Amino acid sequence: MTKSSTQPILEVKNLEVSFQTYAGEVQAVRGVTFTLNKGEALAIVGESGCGKSVTAQTIMRLIPMPPGKIKNGEILFDGEHDLAKLTDKQMEQVRGSEMGMIFQDPMTSLNPTMTVGKQIAEGLIKHQNMPKEAAMNQAVEMLKLVGIPSPESRVKQYPHEFSGGMRQRVMIAIALACSPKLLIADEPTTALDVTIQAQIIELMKDLQTKTNASIILITHDLGVVADLAQRVVVMYAGKVVEQATVEELFYEPKHPYTWGLLKSVPRLDHDSNEDLEPIPGTPPDLFKPPVGCAFAARCPYAMKICLEKDPEHTTVSDSHTAACWLLHEDAPKVEAPVEVRGRKHA
Ligand code: SF4
Repeated sequence: MTKSSTQPILEVKNLEVSFQTYAGEVQAVRGVTFTLNKGEALAIVGESGCGKSVTAQTIMRLIPMPPGKIKNGEILFDGEHDLAKLTDKQMEQVRGSEMGMIFQDPMTSLNPTMTVGKQIAEGLIKHQNMPKEAAMNQAVEMLKLVGIPSPESRVKQYPHEFSGGMRQRVMIAIALACSPKLLIADEPTTALDVTIQAQIIELMKDLQTKTNASIILITHDLGVVADLAQRVVVMYAGKVVEQATVEELFYEPKHPYTWGLLKSVPRLDHDSNEDLEPIPGTPPDLFKPPVGCAFAARCPYAMKICLEKDPEHTTVSDSHTAACWLLHEDAPKVEAPVEVRGRKHA
């Protein structure tokens, strides 16, 4: 059983990230705040372009600066560093030894000219001063840990000799080799077929239990969230619109955008041919974010105030907040549509 504590490993406070482009400034992340506790798996969900990947890449300091810029905010890691303020050199050290990242497409992050064993061993030699032979032995152990058969011979092979799912296992082995305090997985299963997706999620779940790693999972897929995470942050148009435990999010969702996301999750207790509804409309232009609630143009419940003033977060429980005018005491009482509740058993 995974043990999460209430001790934070990562505190992101009021983070703002922009990109300067030929057409003007894109405000990709607009005041994001959340905390990840030690041993916890936190999912950040939202449609593409909502700022979830930029948030993750900013934590890892992988956004190109310029054109990217951290305009405001703090990223406190393990109670010590503000990652937003470290030099590139200091950050390289933190990234190599204390953080691991798994990307959507392992082929673009694996080196095609190097054996997978050397790629796993590289971090151990560089960041932990491990002798080469010991690092190669450890590479075999890592391949074993991530469930690659015949690791002794596979360690000498190149990425193209592995299937897509096996390559993602290799990426996970590289990311975990230095026993990082934080693992960030950005759409780790999106490029894989459904059966392999399930296997990779199962593996990550298993590894979280074994290593008690703290994980940030970036995904657009709420089905993956239910399987792996304990807590969820929902992002829309560069902002957090709802934060909750997985149970609260699936059974008591409060934000109409979350309701829309939940409608697109299939469930087993219904006819498999049921229509999954995508959210009508498109997210706003982040060159010039709208005044008021950014979801208003797509929200069936929008009221006059929604177009005038951005809603603050309302506390629903100790672990649950949402930013929606419907939660104001004077607002009409609107409950989540019945069909979006309980989709966790999808
Ligand atoms: Fe809809 Fe208004 Fe809530 Fe925004 S604040 S999600 S527009 S009801």
